[in-house]
Amino acid sequence: MTTQETIELYNKYVIANYTKLPRVIVKGQGSYLFDADGNKILDMFPGWAVSGIGHCHPKVVEALRKQAGELLHIDNTFYSEPQAKLAELLSKRAFGGKTFFCNSGAEANEAALKLARLHTSKQKKYKFITAEGSFHGRTFATVTATAQPKYHEGFLPLLPGFMYVPFNDIKALEAAFSDEVAAVMIEPIQGEGGINVATEEYLQAIRELCDKNGAVMILDEVQSGMGRTGKWFAYQHFGIEPDIITMAKALGGGTAIGAMMAKPEIAASLVPGKHASTFGGNALACAAGVAVIEAIDEDNLLENAVQMGRYTKEKLEKLKDKYGIIDHVRGIGLMIGVQLRGPGKTIVDKCLDKGLRINCTHDTVLRFMPAMIVTKEQIDQAIEILDSALSESKV
Ligand code: PLP
Repeated sequence: MTTQETIELYNKYVIANYTKLPRVIVKGQGSYLFDADGNKILDMFPGWAVSGIGHCHPKVVEALRKQAGELLHIDNTFYSEPQAKLAELLSKRAFGGKTFFCNSGAEANEAALKLARLHTSKQKKYKFITAEGSFHGRTFATVTATAQPKYHEGFLPLLPGFMYVPFNDIKALEAAFSDEVAAVMIEPIQGEGGINVATEEYLQAIRELCDKNGAVMILDEVQSGMGRTGKWFAYQHFGIEPDIITMAKALGGGTAIGAMMAKPEIAASLVPGKHASTFGGNALACAAGVAVIEAIDEDNLLENAVQMGRYTKEKLEKLKDKYGIIDHVRGIGLMIGVQLRGPGKTIVDKCLDKGLRINCTHDTVLRFMPAMIVTKEQIDQAIEILDSALSESKV
C-alpha cells in the first residue's frame, strides 16, 4: 500500500483520537525509522520511550521468536517461567520488591493506587497526593492522578480523594499531609510535564512524611525507569527507597507490558480476588522483558546512557550559546529537556523534514530521549540537524 492509501484506510476505520504525522512507518532498526516512501529518520524519541534499547533490538527479536514458537500466552491460573524470571531480574535491580504484571503504564499506576488503598484501608486512609504537571495515564484513576486540568476537561466528575501540590515544593506537601493520606505518587523526573527533575530534598521529604504518617510512597518510573537515566531506576540517583515503583514503556522492548513492584510487606496485601489482568505477565512480553534487561547488562548500556547523556547535554549547551531561543538544558542521562523561550512545534516539524525525530512537550520543551544504544555519531548528526532547523527558524 502507498502512504496515501494507508492513511485513507486508517482515517476511515480508526478513531481519530491522535494528532498524526502524515508518514507510514514500515521498519525500525536501532536508532532509525524507515517510512513507506523510503525515508530514513534518526529517531531521538523512539516510541515515546518504549524502544529504550532501540527499535527491534536483535536480542529482543530473538527472544520473541523463540518464545513465540513455544508459548505465546498462558493465563495467570498457571505459572510460567518468563514471568518468574522477569520478576526476579527486576527485584534484584530495585529494593527486592515483588511484582504484579499488567500491560501499560496506566495499568501499573492503577494497580499501585489500588494496592496503596488496600494496604492502608484498615487505618481508614484513602487520600492520594500527586504533583502539578504530572502525567500518570488515561484511566479514570490515573487521569485523576494526573494533575493537569487540560486532561480532566470533559471527564468530570473525577475520582474522589485526590489532592494536588506544586512539584518540588516541600512546604505545600507538608501542608497537604494528614493521617488520611494513603499514598503520595510522584514521577522522580516528570516526563510529559517537561523533564522536571525532583530535588533530592523533595524526595527525601516525601519519604519522611510517608514514614511519619504511615502512607505509601509510590514513584511512577514508567518513563524514567529501565536504565535511561544511567541507573536502573531514577530514584537510585536520590538516596531514597520508595515503597512502590511502576514501570512500562521500555520494559518490553516494544511489546506491551507494565509492572508494579512493591516492597514484600506491602505486596502481601494484594491477595487473590483483589486485582488481576488477563494479559498481564504474558509469556511473550515477559520473554522480551528478560531480553531487554540482559541486553542492557551485556552491552553495558547503563554506562552508555551516562556517557551519551553527558555528550548530548554538552552539545545542546553549545547550541544554547548560539541561539537565544534556548533558555536552558536539563535532565539526567538520556532523559533530556531543552527549555525554549518560545514554542517548539515548528522546530520539531523542521527537524523531521530533515530526517530527525524529536518531541516537544508543554509547547516549549524539546524532549530528547534517544535509545540507550545511541552513538556519538548519531548524536552529532542529530545536533547538526537541530542546528540547521534552529538557524532556519531565525530564533
Ligand atoms: N506514567 C508516565 C510517567 C508516563 O510518561 C506515561 C505515558 O506517557 C504513563 C504513566 C502512561 O503510560 P501508558 O500510556 O502506557 O498507559
